[in-house]
Amino acid sequence: MDKNPFIYDLDIPDLSDLLKSWGEPAYRTAQIWSGLYRHFYNSPSEFTNIPKSLREKLESNVRFNALTPDLRQSSSDGHTIKTLFRLPDSQVIEAVQMDYDRRRTLCISSQAGCAMGCVFCATGQMGFKRHLTSGEIVAQVMHYARQSHAQGERVTNIVVMGMGEPFHNYDNTMAAIDRLNDPEGFNFGARRITISTVGLVPAIRRFADEGRQVNLAVSLHAADDETRVEMLPVNKRYPIADVLDACRYYVDKTHRRVTFEWALINEVNDSPETARRLATRLKGLLCHVNAIPLNPTTGYSGVATDRGRAEGFRAVLQQAGIPCTIRMRRGIDIAAGCGQLAGAASI
Ligand code: SAH
Ligand code: SF4
Repeated sequence: MDKNPFIYDLDIPDLSDLLKSWGEPAYRTAQIWSGLYRHFYNSPSEFTNIPKSLREKLESNVRFNALTPDLRQSSSDGHTIKTLFRLPDSQVIEAVQMDYDRRRTLCISSQAGCAMGCVFCATGQMGFKRHLTSGEIVAQVMHYARQSHAQGERVTNIVVMGMGEPFHNYDNTMAAIDRLNDPEGFNFGARRITISTVGLVPAIRRFADEGRQVNLAVSLHAADDETRVEMLPVNKRYPIADVLDACRYYVDKTHRRVTFEWALINEVNDSPETARRLATRLKGLLCHVNAIPLNPTTGYSGVATDRGRAEGFRAVLQQAGIPCTIRMRRGIDIAAGCGQLAGAASI
């Protein structure tokens, strides 16, 4: 495998050290950074703002193509595009673009596979392969940003809701977000980014302490531990009470609203009693429930809640003062994401 560093894995100090080691003047760093993140250059030959000799050095010492788009599918309505990317070690990940309500939202992956084993999730069913590097996370965004730029469009929102558990790959995910956020580069606003976690309690607290303006979504899916542990094995380690305590801590620290995700599964977690129980547990917490009918996967026999039951669930929450939105499933005909896309499109 090519041992050269991947260009998107470098932050500004890394790039500047590399260029310094080649005897380049300091201003080259800014030229290359803006070429990458403002002009979306994708290969050394495009950097016409730097000398040919430096382009050649980049060509032979840095990798630009660590993510190979392998397969591209569009939903029948044309609003959702899924791209599978092959990584240098042959792992495959996916990232999805959704156009909805004048927004262009990207749903990106943080890991190849996932170690959390949630029973209804396609990624959970495949198991953990590996963490993505920060550059592999950034590159998914730049792929779509480049295409959007060529169409005169732009990405408006990013959700880290594709494959993997971002808080299990905390450092690389945050490094990727900080790089995308950099005002000298892509300058993507933290408030337009959402991270979704299965509920890793220490990481939620750390995230709260670090004070980024990034939105937090927590996959709750059940209002009691018996039900949740059957769906999300991680609940053994971090039961609902601990997750909600961490969410209260987050809200206290950041004054930001938490989104709770809820995959509505017929007769599993969609009854009015469940909604009442959930409302009791969420009372006083600055939050919003984002409910999505389950997207069926081959490894799980649960069935999506129908619209009537979903509306009933929502009505109970609303009456108890907990805002709840039922999301339509999008991109379903291309099996986009692990079924989470409806929520992702509208956050
Ligand atoms: N690991 C993170 C983020 C990726 S999953 C997390 O679990 O939050 C993103 C969202 O999709 C989560 O809320 C997850 O529970 C949900 N999801 C996974 N499989 C689903 C399915 N088959 N139908 C509906 N939602 C699903
Ligand atoms: Fe992993 Fe999230 Fe899927 Fe659970 S729902 S297996 S945490 S990707």
